[in-house]
Amino acid sequence: MEKLNRYGQFVGKRTIEELRMLAGYLQGKVIQHINSTAVGGGVAEILSKIVPLLQELGVNCQWDVIKGSPEFFDVTKAIHNALHGKEAELTDKMLEVFNEISRMNIREMNLYGDIMFIHDPQPIALIKRKSGMKKSKWIWRCHVDVSGPDKNAWGFLEPFINKYDAAVFSSPHFAHQMKPRQVLISPSIDPFSDKNREVTREEIDTVLNKYNIDPRQKPIVCQISRYDALKDPVGVIKAYKMVKKYVDCQLLLVGNRAADDPETDKIYKEVLEAAGKDPDIHALLVEDIPYEINVFQRVSDVIVQKSLREGFALTVSEALWKAKPVVASAVGGIPLQIKHKYGGLLCHSIEGAAFAIKQLLNAPEYAKKLGENGREHIRQNFLLTRHLREYMLLFLSLYTEDGIVTL
Ligand code: UDP
Repeated sequence: MEKLNRYGQFVGKRTIEELRMLAGYLQGKVIQHINSTAVGGGVAEILSKIVPLLQELGVNCQWDVIKGSPEFFDVTKAIHNALHGKEAELTDKMLEVFNEISRMNIREMNLYGDIMFIHDPQPIALIKRKSGMKKSKWIWRCHVDVSGPDKNAWGFLEPFINKYDAAVFSSPHFAHQMKPRQVLISPSIDPFSDKNREVTREEIDTVLNKYNIDPRQKPIVCQISRYDALKDPVGVIKAYKMVKKYVDCQLLLVGNRAADDPETDKIYKEVLEAAGKDPDIHALLVEDIPYEINVFQRVSDVIVQKSLREGFALTVSEALWKAKPVVASAVGGIPLQIKHKYGGLLCHSIEGAAFAIKQLLNAPEYAKKLGENGREHIRQNFLLTRHLREYMLLFLSLYTEDGIVTL
């Protein structure tokens, strides 16, 4: 229990005691999470923290990943973009690719949870196994911004969604008319993970040397995100170029690959083209080394998240936890994390982002205050312990009928 106790310093002892009590009620239940990648992106990030901690609490919690093919992930990325509102043509051929790989996973996967916790659209069709697992409860966890989805994409997923017992969304704006009970649970960050813990001077120097970055030369404006059109890295470059006319600074773009995201190379190429020969733009395509991300965030002067659509944006919580001033688009789950002009600055355009970045670079005291307020907001609302509590309450609620626990 030692690891769990450490969280008490941020959230108080009583929160930890409550987690133990809730975990006690879940004895004998198996929770099986399923998603589409073990590394890369926010879902894998969260699961890699939530699962071990639930296990430490004595809850039998497991995590499995579906199999896919490049064609399957092309289709699921198209569905992902369409759910985010991008107009998309999902042809019969594409849907057949989705159905075929889904059938394979339905046939071959070892499903054994009392509570089946399915993340995002890629594994959604596994719900077809529900009828053969009589007492199982099924949760669909949607991490995507579905405030204005493409109708065809939503229509395709709806018959699956309606078979679940509960659907979880990150923001109230994502609610829909649907059969399952809808639950609002925001994601969270782990303050003790390599991505968020304190780092040593030596670690900072190692990373800076490795990537040849010198924060003493010019202030660093940074965005950390998969190279994905919806994260708008080219928009960040445009904003940086506007800022650069007034404040000399450098831009750091950092992105990794996610196994289920086929668009990385295309978008990275666009980024390099937009960056041109500017020696102050560092556009890095990196391996998955969490402490390096931690260092990049800590050496930055302003952190940007200029997404066009966003499920939640863990990167915003991560940056605020380090008390960094953040400029982020007012989309998806971001306004839950940033109260404008109090715990960061929200923006609505490239020009707006440029204006906000310039303002923060010119007013370090104001920037510092926003960062401090932002950290406190994350401490109160977006740490792992709050997330664990809400998930366990959700699990327990699945066994409640008319207020009576049937566990
Ligand atoms: N991330 C990373 N390396 C990178 C880029 C991103 O480890 O090069 C991490 C980032 O720190 C965050 C997660 O990937 O923990 C991205 O989650 P987010 O919710 O921001 O976006 P998603 O990729 O899920 O859309």
